[in-house]
Amino acid sequence: MAQMLIGGEWVGSRSGDYIEVMNPATGEAVDTAPRGTAEDAREAINNAHEAFAVWSEWTQARRADVLRRTVALFHTNEKELATLLTKEQGKPLREAILEIRRFAHTIEYYAGLGKNIRGGYIPQIDENKYGLIIKRPLGVVGAIVPWNFPVSLMGNKIGPALLAGNTMVIKPAETTPLTDLRVVGLFLEAGLPKGVMNVVTGPGSVVGQEIVSNAKVRKVGFTGSTDVGRRVMATAAQTIKRVTLELGGSDPMIVCDDADIDEAAKAAAVGRFFNCGQACLAIKRLYLFDSIADDFIARLTARVKKLRVGNGLAEGTMIGPLHSQSQRDEIEAQVQDAIDRGAKVLAGGDRLHGEGFDDGHFYAPTLLTDVPEDARVATEEVFGPALPIFRVGSLDEAIAKANDSIYGLGSSIWTSDLTRATRAAERLEAGYTWINSAQIIYDELPFGGFKQSGYGKEHGIEALDYYTETKSVVVATKPQQQ
Ligand code: NDP
Repeated sequence: MAQMLIGGEWVGSRSGDYIEVMNPATGEAVDTAPRGTAEDAREAINNAHEAFAVWSEWTQARRADVLRRTVALFHTNEKELATLLTKEQGKPLREAILEIRRFAHTIEYYAGLGKNIRGGYIPQIDENKYGLIIKRPLGVVGAIVPWNFPVSLMGNKIGPALLAGNTMVIKPAETTPLTDLRVVGLFLEAGLPKGVMNVVTGPGSVVGQEIVSNAKVRKVGFTGSTDVGRRVMATAAQTIKRVTLELGGSDPMIVCDDADIDEAAKAAAVGRFFNCGQACLAIKRLYLFDSIADDFIARLTARVKKLRVGNGLAEGTMIGPLHSQSQRDEIEAQVQDAIDRGAKVLAGGDRLHGEGFDDGHFYAPTLLTDVPEDARVATEEVFGPALPIFRVGSLDEAIAKANDSIYGLGSSIWTSDLTRATRAAERLEAGYTWINSAQIIYDELPFGGFKQSGYGKEHGIEALDYYTETKSVVVATKPQQQ
């Protein structure tokens, strides 16, 4: 029975209720976590508020030391954390290990920025006066995290928030609280003072809602769907709370006629089916130049048919189950809509049945061609293992179609022509463009969506701007005595 963390103590909910956390591959219960209430969230916020007075006084170097010590503990506990993550989320163990390492890298990266929060100095701003620009932590910040990358997406908030001197209240997704709780426990072991980081498990509409509406919370870092992000932004407006919103995406991948077709096909297979397609930054629409389309599709189909689906803990599994029944229902409905409108299925297109599959939410990796542009797989975010393929006659046509979306998260182009690559990088309306590269995210580069994919940046030194206030100070000195 997992407990949540409030004021440095592991506690149950005042409700006395628990949520069962299920294994998406087997349908078995993994463990339980408290069903937190608004009062639990308020208590956590009050504890974080008190702890701020202490934590914000620590030097940056001392705060960075705690982060570094925690990173060492992640490495020691990597296998155990990854196994728990696979059990509650469903992803293959290999990917769970990558996620734990990514989390560790993010925390280490921000520990390394320990002396990089800087202000400014403006001499002689007036007679006997100078100006300072100083950076201050915000206070209590909320972190609301989804289930697809429960650990690494939490790390994107913890790293810059703690380094800058803020205290935190974290709300994991209801279906994936367990690894997050274990990870946060390691910060305590590494010497994080009580109350600096609190975790309240429970429903978003209750615990999340309290975090977003509570006036003591100065900022919310939210990762999740565009619909909930919209609600978070509206609620945060009541208290003029700062928000960072990392929302949905529908990343286009463009493959030109001069591309390395084999490398591009490999990147498409990984970029679409990693984490069973449940990634914000995933290739969700594929635009192929007509002349290479047949060749590309043949190579991609061959790769996709080889992807081994199964329980994430089983040796050799490359794709796990979808995280929940509702996720699988959604994918099924989106694929069926495309088929009903005339799309052809090149691979997959159905649930997987038989031993090892019947108790989990498995769905076959799916490729679709001849997809009409108004099909749901083209206009909506596809959060699962299905990829619609479109043919285009030119780069400008590809860019126009790629940009014809409410989303603007990631994008990629494959070409050996620098002019084409530059044109795409400048014109694709997305927070990231990969050129001849798989869609891999880097802590060193700022990341955040255009359009309805979000607001604000995570990663990079830029993220620190979203966890600090910038303040001006004017200092008057006495005139020099002659
Ligand atoms: P949701 O928006 O449903 O949930 C995200 C988080 O918000 C969960 O912790 C949820 O809690 C919480 N929440 C729900 N309702 C509220 C509310 N009213 N107030 C405050 N918090 C609330 O997203 P999913 O979990 O389904 O995640 C998938 C989505 O996340 C996809 O659209 C994906 O593209 C996006 N995403 C974006 C990323 C990015 O960086 N841009 C990265 C990864 C994913 P609970 O689950 O307990 O209800």
